[in-house]
Amino acid sequence: MKPEQLVRPEILALKAYPVPPSAGMVKLDAMENPYSLPEPLRRELANVLARVELNRYPDPSAKALRALIARKMGVPAEMDILLGNGSDELLQIIVTAIARPGTTVMFPAPTFVMYSMYAAFLGARAVAVPLREDFSFDRAAFLARMREEKPAIVFIAYPNNPTGVLYEEQDVVEILKAAQGLVVLDEAYHAFARKTFMARLAEFPNLVVLRTVSKLGLAGIRLGYLAGRREWLEQFDKVRSPYNINVLTQAAALFLLERVDVLEEQATRIREERVALAAALGKLSGVTVFPSEANFLLVRVPDAERTFQGLKQRNVLVKNLHPGLRNCLRITVGTPEEDRILLTALREAL
Ligand code: PMP
Repeated sequence: MKPEQLVRPEILALKAYPVPPSAGMVKLDAMENPYSLPEPLRRELANVLARVELNRYPDPSAKALRALIARKMGVPAEMDILLGNGSDELLQIIVTAIARPGTTVMFPAPTFVMYSMYAAFLGARAVAVPLREDFSFDRAAFLARMREEKPAIVFIAYPNNPTGVLYEEQDVVEILKAAQGLVVLDEAYHAFARKTFMARLAEFPNLVVLRTVSKLGLAGIRLGYLAGRREWLEQFDKVRSPYNINVLTQAAALFLLERVDVLEEQATRIREERVALAAALGKLSGVTVFPSEANFLLVRVPDAERTFQGLKQRNVLVKNLHPGLRNCLRITVGTPEEDRILLTALREAL
């Protein structure tokens, strides 16, 4: 028996999520925070982690960590929290709990690829509603399509990846009012956009808010959180693998989120650097910079493939979105030094 005979056709048709090698490169492809933790904090963290009992299973529901996240991240008291191994896992959990073959999930596109990947895993139908040419949200088109398709799940990245656009608050409200299914508002880039529906959860019975600590500076520990009503989260919790948040992640997050102001200061620096980088990129002839509220910038260049390869030869890794997004590159905001290297390389690679 060959795998091709056994594996479901919708899985055979997929490509695994691509992660290119990046050793030794200026890494501006994955929306990571470029700053490491201050040295004294690293030493304290090392002590905390040294005391973790690796021989024991973690607290299965990570109660202390959920309480800390609720307190630090402004989760309303009456709402529940579910933790995931990255927000990726929470997306998969939501889709697994709801979608069955033929179920419709919907999102504005282009957007984060995993929404359609998780739908494909379950044999669900992914309906991608195009954004306008300038990547702004086409409210009338989206609402019309929602009325037609009646999706079980709507995914909205707020702000969006890979475009960086933050949709109007009223656009999200109209989607929430019109939706007959669940709306997952993915606030992965909240640290940079600082707009949120967290405080409005109680207004909308069909809303859950998804966040991650990845972009804030802790991509390596793999921790995401979902906030919403108990009625939703208790169902999603059944789909979660036991002990999905390991002991080292729980201990590191308990220690670091207590000191989240350190990471928030870094996010402020990244926001400031985003403005400076956007201005510098905009001065390069042939480069169009799209407005972004996240920690990356989407740019259009005359020949994305050539520029991407040229940057790579100069040891700078960005994300090439071409041909899906015609001649577009997504550049994560780095440190001022990294961005200087990027700009020098880009001048040569355009
Ligand atoms: N949502 C969006 C919009 C993203 O861009 C990403 C990461 N690229 C994620 C979710 C997943 O992040 P993580 O699994 O690291 O929490």
